[in-house]
Amino acid sequence: MHNAFVTLVTNADYIMGATALAHSLRRTRTSADVVVLHTGAVEQDALVGLKALGCRIVAVDHLPLSDGFNQRHARRNLHGAAPFTKGRKPDFHTPLDNFCKLRLWQLTEYRTVVFLDADVVVLKNIDKLFDYPEFSAAPNVYESLADFHRLNSGVFVARPSTETFERMLVALDQPDAFWRRTDQTFLESFFPDWHGLPVFMNMLQYVWFNMPALWDWKAISILHYQYEKPWESNHPKAEQLSPLIDLWHAFHEGRDIPDITGFANPGAAS
Ligand code: UDP
Ligand code: MN
Repeated sequence: MHNAFVTLVTNADYIMGATALAHSLRRTRTSADVVVLHTGAVEQDALVGLKALGCRIVAVDHLPLSDGFNQRHARRNLHGAAPFTKGRKPDFHTPLDNFCKLRLWQLTEYRTVVFLDADVVVLKNIDKLFDYPEFSAAPNVYESLADFHRLNSGVFVARPSTETFERMLVALDQPDAFWRRTDQTFLESFFPDWHGLPVFMNMLQYVWFNMPALWDWKAISILHYQYEKPWESNHPKAEQLSPLIDLWHAFHEGRDIPDITGFANPGAAS
Protein backbone atom coordinates (compact mmCIF):
# COMPACT_ATOMS: atom_id res chain seq x y z
CA MET A 1 0.00 0.00 0.00
CA HIS A 2 1.10 3.49 -0.78
CA ASN A 3 1.86 6.40 1.50
CA ALA A 4 0.96 10.03 0.99
CA PHE A 5 1.83 13.54 2.03
CA VAL A 6 -1.45 15.39 2.50
CA THR A 7 -2.18 19.09 2.78
CA LEU A 8 -5.34 21.19 2.89
CA VAL A 9 -6.40 24.34 1.02
CA THR A 10 -9.69 26.16 1.47
CA ASN A 11 -8.88 29.43 -0.34
CA ALA A 12 -6.55 31.05 -2.85
CA ASP A 13 -4.04 32.16 -0.22
CA TYR A 14 -3.33 28.64 0.98
CA ILE A 15 -2.99 27.52 -2.65
CA MET A 16 0.09 29.74 -2.75
CA GLY A 17 1.35 27.94 0.32
CA ALA A 18 0.61 24.51 -1.13
CA THR A 19 2.43 25.46 -4.35
CA ALA A 20 5.63 26.21 -2.46
CA LEU A 21 5.14 23.01 -0.44
CA ALA A 22 4.64 20.89 -3.59
CA HIS A 23 7.79 22.33 -5.18
CA SER A 24 9.71 21.57 -1.99
CA LEU A 25 8.45 17.97 -1.81
CA ARG A 26 9.33 17.32 -5.48
CA ARG A 27 12.86 18.48 -4.73
CA THR A 28 13.19 15.74 -2.07
CA ARG A 29 12.48 13.10 -4.80
CA THR A 30 9.90 11.36 -2.68
CA SER A 31 7.96 8.55 -4.32
CA ALA A 32 4.93 9.03 -2.05
CA ASP A 33 1.76 10.64 -3.41
CA VAL A 34 1.22 14.33 -2.74
CA VAL A 35 -2.47 14.89 -2.03
CA VAL A 36 -4.19 18.26 -1.81
CA LEU A 37 -7.54 18.28 -0.01
CA HIS A 38 -9.68 21.24 -0.99
CA THR A 39 -13.10 22.54 -0.05
CA GLY A 40 -15.78 23.77 -2.44
CA ALA A 41 -14.69 27.39 -1.93
CA VAL A 42 -11.66 26.69 -4.14
CA GLU A 43 -12.16 27.15 -7.91
CA GLN A 44 -11.03 24.34 -10.23
CA ASP A 45 -8.89 26.82 -12.23
CA ALA A 46 -6.94 27.65 -9.10
CA LEU A 47 -5.80 24.02 -8.81
CA VAL A 48 -4.18 23.76 -12.26
CA GLY A 49 -0.71 24.65 -11.00
CA LEU A 50 -0.84 22.02 -8.25
CA LYS A 51 -1.99 19.39 -10.77
CA ALA A 52 0.94 20.31 -13.00
CA LEU A 53 3.23 19.59 -10.05
CA GLY A 54 1.78 16.07 -9.93
CA CYS A 55 -0.49 16.56 -6.95
CA ARG A 56 -3.58 14.42 -6.53
CA ILE A 57 -6.50 16.80 -5.96
CA VAL A 58 -9.29 15.57 -3.67
CA ALA A 59 -12.46 17.55 -2.96
CA VAL A 60 -13.74 17.35 0.61
CA ASP A 61 -16.75 18.73 2.46
CA HIS A 62 -16.64 20.47 5.78
CA LEU A 63 -17.25 18.07 8.66
CA PRO A 64 -20.87 17.46 9.65
CA LEU A 65 -20.75 19.52 12.85
CA SER A 66 -23.56 21.02 14.93
CA ASP A 67 -24.56 24.68 14.49
CA GLY A 68 -23.44 25.36 18.05
CA PHE A 69 -20.00 23.93 17.32
CA ASN A 70 -19.66 26.01 14.18
CA GLN A 71 -20.73 29.16 16.01
CA ARG A 72 -18.30 28.67 18.89
CA HIS A 73 -15.43 28.15 16.45
CA ALA A 74 -16.33 30.96 14.03
CA ARG A 75 -13.38 33.32 13.63
CA ARG A 76 -14.86 36.25 15.56
CA ASN A 77 -16.05 34.11 18.46
CA LEU A 78 -12.88 32.06 18.73
CA HIS A 79 -10.60 35.11 18.59
CA GLY A 80 -12.82 36.73 21.26
CA ALA A 81 -12.88 33.74 23.63
CA ALA A 82 -9.22 32.74 23.15
CA PRO A 83 -7.28 35.72 21.79
CA PHE A 84 -3.93 35.25 20.05
CA THR A 85 -1.36 37.23 22.01
CA LYS A 86 1.93 35.93 20.62
CA GLY A 87 1.45 36.46 16.91
CA ARG A 88 -1.16 37.48 14.37
CA LYS A 89 -3.39 35.30 12.21
CA PRO A 90 -3.95 36.62 8.68
CA ASP A 91 -7.46 37.73 7.67
CA PHE A 92 -7.72 34.82 5.23
CA HIS A 93 -7.37 32.28 8.07
CA THR A 94 -10.73 30.70 9.00
CA PRO A 95 -10.40 28.58 12.17
CA LEU A 96 -13.29 26.28 11.30
CA ASP A 97 -11.55 25.24 8.07
CA ASN A 98 -8.73 23.70 10.12
CA PHE A 99 -10.97 20.83 11.20
CA CYS A 100 -11.17 19.61 7.57
CA LYS A 101 -7.70 18.14 8.17
CA LEU A 102 -9.40 15.27 9.97
CA ARG A 103 -10.76 14.10 6.59
CA LEU A 104 -7.38 12.55 5.92
CA TRP A 105 -8.37 9.64 8.17
CA GLN A 106 -10.82 8.77 5.39
CA LEU A 107 -8.02 8.28 2.84
CA THR A 108 -7.94 4.54 3.55
CA GLU A 109 -6.25 3.81 0.21
CA TYR A 110 -3.03 4.84 1.99
CA ARG A 111 -1.25 2.93 4.73
CA THR A 112 0.29 6.02 6.29
CA VAL A 113 -0.28 9.71 5.78
CA VAL A 114 2.00 12.55 6.78
CA PHE A 115 -0.07 15.70 7.09
CA LEU A 116 1.69 18.97 6.29
CA ASP A 117 0.14 22.41 6.71
CA ALA A 118 0.08 24.42 3.48
CA ASP A 119 2.41 26.96 5.15
CA VAL A 120 5.41 24.63 5.45
CA VAL A 121 8.31 23.85 3.15
CA VAL A 122 10.26 20.60 3.26
CA LEU A 123 14.02 21.05 3.12
CA LYS A 124 15.15 17.40 3.13
CA ASN A 125 13.70 14.01 2.28
CA ILE A 126 11.32 13.04 5.10
CA ASP A 127 10.06 9.68 3.79
CA LYS A 128 11.23 8.00 6.99
CA LEU A 129 8.23 9.63 8.73
CA PHE A 130 6.03 6.99 7.07
CA ASP A 131 7.55 4.42 9.44
CA TYR A 132 6.63 6.40 12.56
CA PRO A 133 3.62 5.42 14.66
CA GLU A 134 0.28 7.16 14.92
CA PHE A 135 0.12 9.74 16.39
CA SER A 136 3.47 11.47 15.95
CA ALA A 137 3.93 15.23 16.01
CA ALA A 138 6.60 17.72 17.02
CA PRO A 139 6.26 19.99 20.06
CA ASN A 140 4.83 23.48 19.61
CA VAL A 141 8.12 25.17 20.44
CA TYR A 142 8.61 28.82 19.52
CA GLU A 143 9.06 30.74 22.75
CA SER A 144 10.19 28.76 25.78
CA LEU A 145 10.80 25.33 27.27
CA ALA A 146 7.20 25.19 28.51
CA ASP A 147 6.18 24.83 24.84
CA PHE A 148 7.47 21.24 24.89
CA HIS A 149 4.29 20.19 26.71
CA ARG A 150 2.16 20.86 23.66
CA LEU A 151 2.14 19.54 20.13
CA ASN A 152 1.89 21.49 16.89
CA SER A 153 -0.57 20.04 14.39
CA GLY A 154 1.12 21.49 11.30
CA VAL A 155 3.04 18.23 10.79
CA PHE A 156 1.87 14.80 11.95
CA VAL A 157 1.87 11.10 11.14
CA ALA A 158 -1.48 9.29 10.94
CA ARG A 159 -2.96 5.95 9.85
CA PRO A 160 -6.17 6.46 7.87
CA SER A 161 -9.09 4.49 9.30
CA THR A 162 -12.82 4.99 8.96
CA GLU A 163 -13.27 3.71 12.48
CA THR A 164 -10.86 6.32 13.89
CA PHE A 165 -12.49 9.05 11.81
CA GLU A 166 -15.92 8.20 13.19
CA ARG A 167 -14.67 8.11 16.76
CA MET A 168 -13.11 11.51 16.19
CA LEU A 169 -16.36 13.08 15.03
CA VAL A 170 -18.08 11.89 18.20
CA ALA A 171 -15.29 13.15 20.48
CA LEU A 172 -15.05 16.45 18.61
CA ASP A 173 -18.63 17.67 18.69
CA GLN A 174 -19.57 17.18 22.33
CA PRO A 175 -22.09 19.63 23.82
CA ASP A 176 -20.32 22.94 24.55
CA ALA A 177 -16.97 21.59 23.34
CA PHE A 178 -14.59 24.47 22.64
CA TRP A 179 -11.23 23.66 21.06
CA ARG A 180 -9.36 26.92 21.58
CA ARG A 181 -6.64 26.08 19.04
CA THR A 182 -8.99 24.05 16.85
CA ASP A 183 -7.66 20.76 15.42
CA GLN A 184 -4.44 21.16 17.42
CA THR A 185 -6.16 21.17 20.81
CA PHE A 186 -8.46 18.41 19.67
CA LEU A 187 -5.68 16.10 18.44
CA GLU A 188 -3.72 16.62 21.65
CA SER A 189 -6.77 15.52 23.60
CA PHE A 190 -7.69 12.64 21.28
CA PHE A 191 -4.12 11.25 21.30
CA PRO A 192 -2.94 11.94 24.88
CA ASP A 193 -0.01 9.53 24.37
CA TRP A 194 1.23 11.27 21.22
CA HIS A 195 4.78 10.46 20.13
CA GLY A 196 7.21 13.34 19.94
CA LEU A 197 9.05 14.09 16.72
CA PRO A 198 12.23 16.18 16.91
CA VAL A 199 11.64 19.93 16.71
CA PHE A 200 13.53 19.89 13.41
CA MET A 201 10.59 18.04 11.85
CA ASN A 202 8.45 21.14 12.38
CA MET A 203 10.68 24.13 13.00
CA LEU A 204 8.45 27.11 13.70
CA GLN A 205 9.56 30.40 12.18
CA TYR A 206 9.44 32.32 15.49
CA VAL A 207 12.32 30.17 16.78
CA TRP A 208 14.47 32.23 14.39
CA PHE A 209 14.17 35.30 16.64
CA ASN A 210 12.88 33.90 19.95
CA MET A 211 15.21 30.91 20.47
CA PRO A 212 18.10 31.35 18.04
CA ALA A 213 20.23 28.83 19.96
CA LEU A 214 17.89 26.11 18.68
CA TRP A 215 18.27 27.13 15.05
CA ASP A 216 20.41 24.79 12.94
CA TRP A 217 19.84 24.98 9.19
CA LYS A 218 21.61 21.64 8.64
CA ALA A 219 19.22 19.85 10.97
CA ILE A 220 15.94 21.36 9.81
CA SER A 221 13.78 19.04 7.71
CA ILE A 222 10.54 21.05 7.74
CA LEU A 223 10.17 24.80 8.15
CA HIS A 224 6.75 26.05 9.26
CA TYR A 225 5.58 29.65 8.79
CA GLN A 226 3.16 29.70 11.71
CA TYR A 227 1.16 32.92 12.39
CA GLU A 228 2.06 35.47 9.67
CA LYS A 229 2.45 33.97 6.19
CA PRO A 230 5.47 34.67 3.98
CA TRP A 231 3.26 35.82 1.08
CA GLU A 232 1.35 38.43 3.11
CA SER A 233 1.82 41.97 1.86
CA ASN A 234 1.39 43.69 5.24
CA HIS A 235 3.67 41.35 7.12
CA PRO A 236 4.53 42.89 10.49
CA LYS A 237 7.63 40.71 10.97
CA ALA A 238 8.91 40.81 7.39
CA GLU A 239 12.17 42.44 8.28
CA GLN A 240 12.99 40.10 11.15
CA LEU A 241 12.15 37.04 9.05
CA SER A 242 13.49 38.21 5.70
CA PRO A 243 15.89 35.28 4.97
CA LEU A 244 13.08 32.80 5.71
CA ILE A 245 10.63 34.74 3.56
CA ASP A 246 13.09 34.90 0.66
CA LEU A 247 13.55 31.15 0.93
CA TRP A 248 9.79 30.58 0.75
CA HIS A 249 9.55 32.74 -2.40
CA ALA A 250 12.30 30.72 -4.08
CA PHE A 251 10.21 27.57 -3.48
CA HIS A 252 6.97 29.23 -4.51
CA GLU A 253 8.38 30.52 -7.78
CA GLY A 254 10.18 27.25 -8.51
CA ARG A 255 13.59 28.93 -8.52
CA ASP A 256 16.88 27.28 -7.55
CA ILE A 257 17.14 27.02 -3.79
CA PRO A 258 20.03 29.04 -2.37
CA ASP A 259 22.45 27.44 0.07
CA ILE A 260 20.43 28.11 3.18
CA THR A 261 23.16 27.06 5.57
CA GLY A 262 24.76 30.41 4.75
CA PHE A 263 21.83 32.50 6.04
CA ALA A 264 23.19 33.98 9.23
CA ASN A 265 20.95 34.21 12.26
CA PRO A 266 21.88 37.46 13.98
CA GLY A 267 20.74 36.16 17.37
CA ALA A 268 22.57 32.83 17.29
CA ALA A 269 25.76 32.19 19.21
CA SER A 270 28.74 31.76 16.91
N1 UDP B 1 -6.22 26.17 6.32
C1 UDP B 1 -6.87 26.57 5.15
N2 UDP B 1 -7.71 27.64 5.21
C2 UDP B 1 -7.93 28.36 6.33
C3 UDP B 1 -7.28 27.96 7.51
C4 UDP B 1 -6.42 26.88 7.48
O1 UDP B 1 -6.68 25.97 4.10
O2 UDP B 1 -8.71 29.35 6.28
C5 UDP B 1 -5.33 24.99 6.30
C6 UDP B 1 -3.95 25.24 5.65
O3 UDP B 1 -3.42 24.01 5.21
C7 UDP B 1 -3.17 25.78 6.83
C8 UDP B 1 -3.65 24.88 7.96
O4 UDP B 1 -5.04 24.62 7.64
O5 UDP B 1 -1.76 25.69 6.63
C9 UDP B 1 -3.56 25.47 9.37
O6 UDP B 1 -3.71 26.88 9.39
P1 UDP B 1 -2.42 27.84 9.54
O7 UDP B 1 -1.26 27.17 8.94
O8 UDP B 1 -2.76 29.20 8.99
O9 UDP B 1 -2.27 27.96 11.12
P2 UDP B 1 -0.92 28.25 11.96
O10 UDP B 1 0.12 27.28 11.50
O11 UDP B 1 -0.55 29.67 11.71
O12 UDP B 1 -1.34 27.99 13.37
MN1 MN C 1 0.55 26.35 9.72
